[in-house]
Amino acid sequence: MIATDTSRQWQPIIQQMELVVGKQGVMVTPEELSVYECDGLASYRQPPSLVVLPQTTAEVAGVVQICDRHQIPFVARGSGTGLSGGALPTEGCVLIVTSRMNKILDIDIDNQCVVVQPGVINAWVTQAVAQEGFYYAPDPSSQIICSIGGNIAENSGGVHCLKYGVTTNHVLGMKVVLPNGDVVDLGGKVADTPGYDLTGVFVGSEGTLGIATEITLRILRVAERSRFCWPTSRVLMQRVKPLPISSVRVSFPLAWKSWTTSVLMP
Ligand SMILES: Cc1cc2nc3c(=O)[nH]c(=O)nc-3n(C[C@H](O)[C@H](O)[C@H](O)COP(=O)(O)OP(=O)(O)OC[C@H]3O[C@@H](n4cnc5c(N)ncnc54)[C@H](O)[C@@H]3O)c2cc1C
Repeated sequence: MIATDTSRQWQPIIQQMELVVGKQGVMVTPEELSVYECDGLASYRQPPSLVVLPQTTAEVAGVVQICDRHQIPFVARGSGTGLSGGALPTEGCVLIVTSRMNKILDIDIDNQCVVVQPGVINAWVTQAVAQEGFYYAPDPSSQIICSIGGNIAENSGGVHCLKYGVTTNHVLGMKVVLPNGDVVDLGGKVADTPGYDLTGVFVGSEGTLGIATEITLRILRVAERSRFCWPTSRVLMQRVKPLPISSVRVSFPLAWKSWTTSVLMP
């Protein structure tokens, strides 16, 4: 059974989609579609008319061209952990899910960057470069499941971002499929390429400008070492002596908290 809205003849569209992504890449039954009816903002629900799972930039472009030709709205979805309803389907839409676009395409240690497909999970990036002594700084607390595509659309951040900046500070470039199916390259492998900062415009645009299909991320070198410095009790008492005991009670835990935060963050 095909669960789609009745205002449109979906069968020919399904056939066209299957030609682009294969039968395995198109979901049409109510059971399959119900999985995608909401994201992390579960109080709003709307099943899509069709779910399509492309694997390459060319397939995303093919799917978007079909949508453009038939004037069908489409919505991109990564892992669906967003809390603002960005991946919530609109009525009668095609949901383009990137979970099969899960390859790390290039690890370029010399230029301190990696190129990934949008369905790559945030934590995989650090895992892929850890042996080389590098890591990817943006760490939303959903990082074991959220996708890089979702991260750039939401400009996500986590604890590291207090020190190193949010996602936009770590995206160097990307390949994007525009709403008419054209493919454009923004930025590159170096920071601050000449011209308008279109990469910066795209990051945080919540899926409204197109679908990112390849993303170049900056990776950082892990600190060679972290040191534990602890004042002797004599030094500590010299410092706190002039303070009334009530200030010590307050300031000491605060100092401890700020020290542990700075040491735990490489
Ligand atoms: C337990 C939990 C903890 C969280 N913690 C944090 C946190 O610490 N910091 C934080 O910032 N967020 C946090 N979030 C929110 C969420 O995880 C992030 O916004 C994350 O970046 C969403 O990624 P996703 O792959 O799930 O994206 P989705 O929810 O699938 O999509 C989010 C948006 O991105 C768009 N999108 C997806 N892929 C693409 C693409 N390839 N191209 C263009 N647009 C695309 C979608 O259309 C949608 O608008 C948390 C969520 C949960 C459930």
